Amino acid sequence: MSGESPDPSASRYDRHVIRSYAAPALTFVRGEGSRVWDAAGRRYLDFATGIAVNALGHSHPVWVRRVQEQAARLTHVSNLYRNEGQGALAEALARRCGPGRALFCNSGAEANEALLKLARLHGVRKSGQEGVCFGVVVAEKAFHGRTFGGMSATPQEKIQKGFRPLLTGFTAAPLNDLAAWDRAIDARTTAAVLIETIQGEGGVNPASSEFLRGVERLCRERNVLLMIDEIQCGVGRTGAFFAFERAGIRPDAIAMAKGLGGGFPIGAIWVAPPHDDLFTAGSHGTTFGGGALASAAALAVLEVIEKEGLLEKVTRQSAPWHERLRGLVALRPDLVSEVRGEGYMVGVILKCDPVPVCAALREAGLLTAPAGGVAVRLLPPLTASAEELAESVDVLTRVLRDWKPA
Ligand SMILES: *Cc1c(COP(=O)(O)O)cnc(C)c1O
Repeated sequence: MSGESPDPSASRYDRHVIRSYAAPALTFVRGEGSRVWDAAGRRYLDFATGIAVNALGHSHPVWVRRVQEQAARLTHVSNLYRNEGQGALAEALARRCGPGRALFCNSGAEANEALLKLARLHGVRKSGQEGVCFGVVVAEKAFHGRTFGGMSATPQEKIQKGFRPLLTGFTAAPLNDLAAWDRAIDARTTAAVLIETIQGEGGVNPASSEFLRGVERLCRERNVLLMIDEIQCGVGRTGAFFAFERAGIRPDAIAMAKGLGGGFPIGAIWVAPPHDDLFTAGSHGTTFGGGALASAAALAVLEVIEKEGLLEKVTRQSAPWHERLRGLVALRPDLVSEVRGEGYMVGVILKCDPVPVCAALREAGLLTAPAGGVAVRLLPPLTASAEELAESVDVLTRVLRDWKPA
């Protein structure tokens, strides 16, 4: 096949890139707004957005200008020095997060690594010694990344297989089952909990507000850090800047990445007082984190979210979109069990494997991402128009109407 491909880079890619990803179906060469074009010139509606990364769509003019200007002025100096952008970005995040401090890194997994190290330091402060209080309670079906810390916090066989022994101290409890978390959180040995407000990779599973408030209360009672992973659901995706805001909780620490850079790699954690002094000079670091170029990209994302009123837009446009998506259940009750999620993070939950359905949708011109073995996940850019949202439902309707389960 690759010999016939209109894309001469496909065979090079297939020969020389390590095969840790399923064989890619397509090569994309250009993007603009909610659209991407493949090497054969075909156009797609991109509701996978690099897995919730391209928050402003592709090549947003403000983002492009900011990145170009910064690249021409100063790209990198390391964290041995200040750069202007990192301070400005931390200040912009402070407006969303409240009191506290930011630490920057390069990816979601790295943000969670920083949270797990923070939890260890909290455990030492709490118990007065190392090796006693280091437990972390996580949710079943969670996904927190592919590093050793991230894998250890991800209670899924397909992620952990082949890489044991992992870090110890992790306990998994069912999402939204507060009684199970009450049993799992131990006042003496638990340092932190780590929760996605809406599980992404696990199949678009929202934590209920009541559950989040209950876990917050348990954490306060037992001096346990409440750490929220907003790497996928944060930075405006649900119509709130952070998805947890609907629950009215105040996390001790927040992890961000994906949408934060709008396509440029950056991760961050936000830590609230009194825990924002746990990391001290020399206790954590990274060469690239919060570099000048990455900070400029993230600042552009935050600027556009504000200037274009994207939170309001996502909130306003979600209700009619969700309503139409729910029509898919009526259309194919034998195939679609439910539509769930918030804002621009939605799962069409199937009674069959979503992978071939996502492939058929791609053939029909709509990019989506399968999740959790059950969901066709829709992650439009925050800039998506009402017409583009409607178009996604039209494509789903066409493909699902005629779908014959294998
Ligand atoms: C994607 C993701 C991660 C890992 O982020 P990477 O940038 O791929 O390392 C962690 N947590 C959640 C909730 C994610 O969706």
